[in-house]
Amino acid sequence: MADGAAASPGCRVDLTGQVALVTGASRGIGRAIALRLASCGATVAGVARTAEALAGTLQAIREAGGTAEGWAANVADSADVQRVVDEVEAKFQKIHVLVNNAGVTRDGLMLRMDDSAWDDVINTNLKGTFLFARAVGAIMMRGRYGRIINISSVSGLMGNPGQANYSASKAGVIGFSRTIARELASRNITVNVVAPGFITTDMTEVLPEKIKTEVKERIPVRRLGTPDDIADLVCYLAGPGASYVTGQVIAVDGGMTA
Ligand code: NAP
Repeated sequence: MADGAAASPGCRVDLTGQVALVTGASRGIGRAIALRLASCGATVAGVARTAEALAGTLQAIREAGGTAEGWAANVADSADVQRVVDEVEAKFQKIHVLVNNAGVTRDGLMLRMDDSAWDDVINTNLKGTFLFARAVGAIMMRGRYGRIINISSVSGLMGNPGQANYSASKAGVIGFSRTIARELASRNITVNVVAPGFITTDMTEVLPEKIKTEVKERIPVRRLGTPDDIADLVCYLAGPGASYVTGQVIAVDGGMTA
């Protein structure tokens, strides 16, 4: 096992000695997840499209006493993904936790949606999840241990007008995860899905104020979520206390889908 920093005293989940690969770690939810896993003692391998974008996350982890390295890759590119996973394994020997978080939106009504908006979103959100799960899953199988956490969305559960491509990709992540949870369970590998509601990040910042206000009115707890709301659950699912939880879809949405 790689030497991670020891878990910080306030952390309830001890991931000391574990290696966690987090995609989309440069900002938003992925950054919060990377910081949280590192604060629990994990060595973090962060992935985003450019090394420059990852620098802030890596610096924040290191300044807090954690261990992190970054890899630039397009999650939708099979060769890129295999290269990154091979390099992470070569550097840290194992990968215990995989968080498939990288995602994009290209919203528009279905009748006006062009092929590239469909392909970009499906390839990043769904194919990217498959590519990393396949490559990292092989390492976890050999190690007879693993935690795979895939980030979906309430849009994949409920549908959302203007997000046919995104909803399809996120519903696909759910079906994919339930299947591989069954395929990998006997090797002590759990696979779970976190479905965030409306979380304040760059992805949602671009929406008009009017939409944000309307969304807030549909959330029973009457607030938008934060990246830390998601990181809390991911951290639990990554830890030893969640060994009997697999194939589940857990919404973190302030009650939107209740
Ligand atoms: P964000 O702030 O836009 O961040 C997206 C992350 O994904 C960035 O780190 C980005 O890295 C990375 N990324 C995008 N395309 C990539 C690619 N082809 N290869 C590698 N990395 C790529 O988004 P967010 O709000 O944190 O969302 C994170 C996840 O949560 C996504 O899967 C999203 O669908 C899901 N989610 C978000 C919300 C929400 O309300 N925010 C709700 C439900 C689900 P670079 O741009 O630096 O390459």
